[in-house]
Amino acid sequence: MTRLILATRNTGKITELRSILADAGLPHELVGADAYPDVPDVKETGTTFADNALLKAHALAQATGHPAVADDSGLCVDVLGGAPGIFSARWAGRHGDDQANLDLLLAQLSDIPDDHRGAHFACAAALALPDGTERVVEGRLRGTLRHTPAGTGGFGYDPILQPDDETRTCAELSAAEKNAISHRGKAFRALVPAVRELLG
Ligand code: IMP
Repeated sequence: MTRLILATRNTGKITELRSILADAGLPHELVGADAYPDVPDVKETGTTFADNALLKAHALAQATGHPAVADDSGLCVDVLGGAPGIFSARWAGRHGDDQANLDLLLAQLSDIPDDHRGAHFACAAALALPDGTERVVEGRLRGTLRHTPAGTGGFGYDPILQPDDETRTCAELSAAEKNAISHRGKAFRALVPAVRELLG
């Protein structure tokens, strides 16, 4: 069975991808990067989600000698010209402080009326082989930003993004409901044909 390494130590993402690949009937053994503790985390020095996803996938494929998949994602706000974008996880300065990031964004948008609060989550999913072959695809979840957070599920900016055709925020959806429409779900499902093409 071909081993496929997922460039994350986040068990939620590993579970999610495992179920997407299984639903697609792919027989690969999916292993998280935590199985390779000696491989250092890659600096996200790219300027796009696709660049960063490819950087992570290539680094892991090189280090382990196995095909690797990686993703990079964030929130892109129309009125901010696509920001926070690749800076989503550290918008308020400290990496991964979800509450501070969300509070700062809401403050920045406080005068912006509902009509101009369009935004989307974006995710790039990349596959890299040890020989340097690569594929990258993107998925988006389009919606509108609320003025006040709602819901306790999910993470990051979920409590303020209300997907189009929904009355709830992402933080009020079940995990299965969110996976079915999410940027990450779409990107990884779009990557399945590339996995099939390159790994059989
Ligand atoms: P990463 O791709 O896991 O590094 O995520 C980057 C950042 O984008 C996260 O820290 C969140 O702030 C934001 N983000 C990405 N995907 C989502 C999502 O599905 N919901 C909420 N926030 C997200």
